Amino acid sequence: MRSWSSPSPNRGGVCRVPGDVRGIVLHSIEGSLEGALRTFARQGGLSAHYAIDCGGTVVGIVLEGDVAFHVAAFGNRPALDRTRPAWLVPYDGWFSAVNARSVGIELVGFARTGFTAAQYASLDAMCAGIAMRWGFPADADRVVTHASLQMDRLDPGDGCDWDALWGAVWTASPGGIGGWSEGDREIVELVWALGADASGVRGWIERLGGTMRRGKRVR
Ligand SMILES: [Zn+2]
Repeated sequence: MRSWSSPSPNRGGVCRVPGDVRGIVLHSIEGSLEGALRTFARQGGLSAHYAIDCGGTVVGIVLEGDVAFHVAAFGNRPALDRTRPAWLVPYDGWFSAVNARSVGIELVGFARTGFTAAQYASLDAMCAGIAMRWGFPADADRVVTHASLQMDRLDPGDGCDWDALWGAVWTASPGGIGGWSEGDREIVELVWALGADASGVRGWIERLGGTMRRGKRVR
């Protein structure tokens, strides 16, 4: 999984701390990477945290600690709201509550034609990393589609291979159904408090014979 960055000015300018990010929202760009990056580079427009191109390369657009503008639902237009995820805790601030609480990932391509195996593989690794960094399970409750949240959106769409998508999410789940045990979570939060990178914590827990298990697939 190669990566590079193409920063967008469309971001909240905030510094989210552990607990603020609670879910992941998946999108389809509905076009090329170049076109999307042009849109994201335009002041006053849209953004997401990452885009995954057809070859699986990840482009960083907004830092995970900042808010990106990828969902309009659960903001100031209630008519757009579809299904409220359980992780979307009450939020009283400037942004859509979903944008405030999530990381947005765009898959390059079209909803009607679907995505590549390389994209699902990168998505798998990314969901695992994001969930690990922010301390939640990468399961089907936490990883949601734009379509599930917003009335006027269908992405990532009918062409999406849902088995591959949920297969990726399932593989990424650090703790399976129910996610982290309380002990695992405490360790991750401790590492966060010390200012260290939590991404290596899973390995330590596994070496210690801890409770990390491969998850069961859920929809
Ligand atoms: Zn979308």
